[in-house]
Amino acid sequence: MRYLITGGAGFIGSHLTEHLLERDHEVVALDNLSTGSLDNLAGVAGHTGFRFVRGSVTDPEAVEACMAGVDAVFHLAAAVGVFTILDKTLESLRTNLHGTEVLLEAALRHDVPILVASTSEIYGKNTANGLTEDSDRIIGSPLKTRWSYAEAKALDETLAHLYAVEHGLRAVIVRPFNTVGPRQTGRYGMVIPRFVTQALAGEPLTVFGDGQQTRCFCHVHDVVPALVRLLSDESAHGKVFNLGSDEQTTISQLAERVIAATGSTSTIAKVPYEEAYGEGYEDMQRRIPDCSRAREQIGFAPVHTLDGIIEAVVADRRR
Ligand code: UDP
Repeated sequence: MRYLITGGAGFIGSHLTEHLLERDHEVVALDNLSTGSLDNLAGVAGHTGFRFVRGSVTDPEAVEACMAGVDAVFHLAAAVGVFTILDKTLESLRTNLHGTEVLLEAALRHDVPILVASTSEIYGKNTANGLTEDSDRIIGSPLKTRWSYAEAKALDETLAHLYAVEHGLRAVIVRPFNTVGPRQTGRYGMVIPRFVTQALAGEPLTVFGDGQQTRCFCHVHDVVPALVRLLSDESAHGKVFNLGSDEQTTISQLAERVIAATGSTSTIAKVPYEEAYGEGYEDMQRRIPDCSRAREQIGFAPVHTLDGIIEAVVADRRR
């Protein structure tokens, strides 16, 4: 198979690229290198089945140029990370809306299946113990910039759904819950690489808010094979799937575990949300997935524990 991966130089995209090349598929990676990096692709540079194209998903001509001979598309490119969304809100919103529409149009025109990466952020402030794909979205004011990422991704889902229903596009949507692992950078906000980098530098770990908010982190090596299985499974097309782990941690506990895993002398510094993200910021207090649907569809069952994930990120940062 030849796959197009948008966001191929990103954290998840580069792991997916490696996974597919190792299985003798061909990959065209389209990326504008805004948050992605060619360093992420160092391991596949020069591979005969691999081609990198620098360009934006918002440019229909760049996308069209990548589509030749492609059998299926993973659309992962997006403006990501809370810091990115807050710093470049309008640009991020436009990339995340327009880019997806360009990709859906291209997939339809070429009659190829497409996987659209959405996000667990779309559930917003719903703290249900086990969010299912049909759980309600509880979102703050549209003028609170944090939610613009969730709003764009929710509309992307609706677009993909309508292209499927009204035009017969073979589209599958996934909602990853805090995917982490080697190569993820903390520069754009993601908490585990930030804590690990701070701990290794002996700096205080910055816990935002009271630290009682919880998350479930899932290793990228658990997520990537699930993406491939879902896109390859015709009976998954037209559906949406949560992908994540159900091992919950508070952010304060996470900071302690990172300090223990690194043997660091770092302390923990509580930073008010306003200071971290600016006035009017709203966080999610709890976000736990129910992944029964993905388990039934493709046998999705993450094997990496949080301790294993922290260890992998520490080893990566040390390297
Ligand atoms: N967070 C934190 N310190 C940091 C970065 C993030 O306490 O240096 C918190 C953040 O406020 C949130 C959680 O960690 O409650 C997860 O943040 P991340 O940006 O990784 O993911 P998301 O908020 O999208 O779940």
